[in-house]
Amino acid sequence: MPYHHLLAPLDLGFVTLPNRVVMGSMHTGLEEVADGQARLAVFYAERARGEAGLIVTGGVAPNAAGRFTEAPGSLTGGDQVAGHRTITEAVHDAGGRILMQVCHTGRYGYHADIVAPSPLRSPINKETPRELTADEIEETIDDFARCATLAREAGYDGVEIMGSEGYLITEFVVPHTNKRTDDWGGPFENRVRFPLEIIRRTRKAVGRDFIIMYRLSVIDLIDDGSTADETVRLAQEVEKAGADIINSGIGWHEARIPTIAAPVPRGAFAWATRRLKGKVGVPLVASNRINTPDKAEEIIAGGDADMVSMARPFLADAEFVAKAARRRGHLINTCIACNQACLDHYFEGKVSTCLVNPRACQETELVITPAQEPRKIAVIGAGPAGLPCAVTLAERGHAVTLFEAAAAIGGQFRIARNVPGKEEFGETLRYFANRLAELGTDVRLGHRVVAAELIEDGFDDVVLATGVAPRRPDIEGIGHAKVVGYAELLTGKAEAGRRVVLIGSGGIAVDVAVYLLESGRSAHLDADAFRAEWGIARDPVDHEPAHDITLMQRSPGRMSARLGKTTGWIHRMVLQKAGVRHMAGVAYERIDDAGVHVTVDGAAHLVEADTVVNCSGQEPLRELLPDLQAAGMSVHLIGGAERAAELDAKRAFDEGTRLAARL
Ligand code: FAD
Ligand code: NAP
Ligand code: SF4
Repeated sequence: MPYHHLLAPLDLGFVTLPNRVVMGSMHTGLEEVADGQARLAVFYAERARGEAGLIVTGGVAPNAAGRFTEAPGSLTGGDQVAGHRTITEAVHDAGGRILMQVCHTGRYGYHADIVAPSPLRSPINKETPRELTADEIEETIDDFARCATLAREAGYDGVEIMGSEGYLITEFVVPHTNKRTDDWGGPFENRVRFPLEIIRRTRKAVGRDFIIMYRLSVIDLIDDGSTADETVRLAQEVEKAGADIINSGIGWHEARIPTIAAPVPRGAFAWATRRLKGKVGVPLVASNRINTPDKAEEIIAGGDADMVSMARPFLADAEFVAKAARRRGHLINTCIACNQACLDHYFEGKVSTCLVNPRACQETELVITPAQEPRKIAVIGAGPAGLPCAVTLAERGHAVTLFEAAAAIGGQFRIARNVPGKEEFGETLRYFANRLAELGTDVRLGHRVVAAELIEDGFDDVVLATGVAPRRPDIEGIGHAKVVGYAELLTGKAEAGRRVVLIGSGGIAVDVAVYLLESGRSAHLDADAFRAEWGIARDPVDHEPAHDITLMQRSPGRMSARLGKTTGWIHRMVLQKAGVRHMAGVAYERIDDAGVHVTVDGAAHLVEADTVVNCSGQEPLRELLPDLQAAGMSVHLIGGAERAAELDAKRAFDEGTRLAARL
């Protein structure tokens, strides 16, 4: 059997889990929409059918103060049980098991009535919390136990008690946020009383045959967090108090060290879970940036943990476990850790989905059904728009021919995967290549299509997914020998000198800067190098930057303001640390042997440069359109071919999938 550690059952005494895979908790935003529980039922049931061993819901607050936002998100009374039962019944019918996460957000709640052990504002929240009184602490513990009892009534197989990431429980545990002088603060024994009392009272309330998983912060990544020794002691006490499983939490939300974004290597924090191995008797779950069955198997087989938790990988592919178990791992649509459609959506107040799988959390809205009348369809361009379009059309039974001018699939995504920290993009291309082959789709690589052949071949529909071409800005000297395109640079066809000026400060300019600064280093791929780079449990390593870089933009404002909410800060930190300069509000005068001449607020500046990289955005590429329209063909435009402005792969995937679902 492949992955025999990962797929081995786990006996908890009163229940046996079919494998070692936990689908980790994700707050999807469906929790707050009107028909959310019905949609969540479909979402979770699909993952249960995909053989996730144990599913954990998004956080549910035990009382009003603990909710995430102004929206209701707590489970406090019997009248709310029926809605949850919709979820548990759907999961059980699909053969799965599901825990409800009980999470009190403490000082991280985005509403006016937030509470904490001490009245200290978090750097990621505008509101200052109110200090809980001793009576309120007792009531909050009872609220946890009541919430778990209601979860049991609703049919959940257990609860996960959220004791990490900087939420209320962790705020009690560490001196950074707990300044109390009563029985709930001060020495370690007092600070951990809150979580231990919650577990004890919850166990008493729910009985023995109900799973209690405790999410324990195995590394806080903040000043004055728990020491390694305290973490072990807490884990031992958590076990004694009645937890069946200990899951790992990595870093507080306010930590300024990346914990799940793409620049974090796969399995980079498994070592932190391993520190508890042999110190407790209950199964331990490793977490964060585990996105392939190989990495998951390696973590368990290597003795870092007994189980693995994966959350986003189940947005990318509901059938992750089933595919791994049936030797179809090459067909897993891998989470690329971009955060663009999951976490970024959540923090923008939108329902989460997945860049590489736009059906995630949209299962009831974006339904893929067999085509009523199969048609002969040409898809031109195998980039992020054309690939999901061709695959979905073929899945529906249409006869699809996918034409690609380049020798390989991927479009701009293929270039992007050369950026350090975007190596995962290659997995998306692996998935699509394998899926197209499995579906038997006619893929014609190295074939630049002209309109005449499409007209002649009599296609019923033509999908133009021809994407974008780099913009050539109207700047004197843009043809100078020192000016190179981003694509040439990122594919190794051009090299950069020591002093580099980038025309443009958007996402691609930032990626070019990262490429220039980080190529050849392994901090995105190797857990040890990553720890050294970010100074995790050791002193950080400093590097002499290989290039002296300036990014420019005509508009005012900060560099690449459109970068993702949950990842933009990482790029900005990396660039700042390397001394990258940013000039906003420039008017380009000319490029010449000396460098780039600009004026800013009427003052002339020369920024000396050996190389100038054109990162000034793109234009749509759709020269086939007029002839196809003139011939009366049914033509559809998606992705960059439709509109280059504000294009990203998320929009391209979404448009490709939605068009294919309609045709
Ligand atoms: P394209 O990717 O341009 O694909 C179009 C395809 O059509 C190409 O393969 C082309 O060869 C083919 N084609 C064109 N004309 C013809 C023809 N006549 N016959 C046959 N084939 C033809 N987006 C994100 O969301 N997140 C990121 O982190 C991100 N990072 C990026 C980093 C870099 C360095 C780059 C360059 C882009 C990045 N992007 C990112 C942007 C993303 O890659 C694009 O938005 C996306 O590729 C657009 O998809 P598309 O299918 O519309 O076009
Ligand atoms: P972009 O984000 O639109 O940035 C284009 C840059 O070029 C801007 O800084 C713009 O600034 C400048 N520019 C535009 N027209 C110009 C002109 N005529 N002359 C000189 N400068 C000009 O586009 P991009 O960086 O090319 O990225 C393309 C897409 O890929 C974007 O939509 C982006 O979201 C996506 N992407 C995303 C990521 C990610 O990590 N999420 C990474 C890379 C790319 P001024 O107009 O102010 O000069
Ligand atoms: Fe993973 Fe990106 Fe999808 Fe989120 S949007 S699940 S990070 S691939």
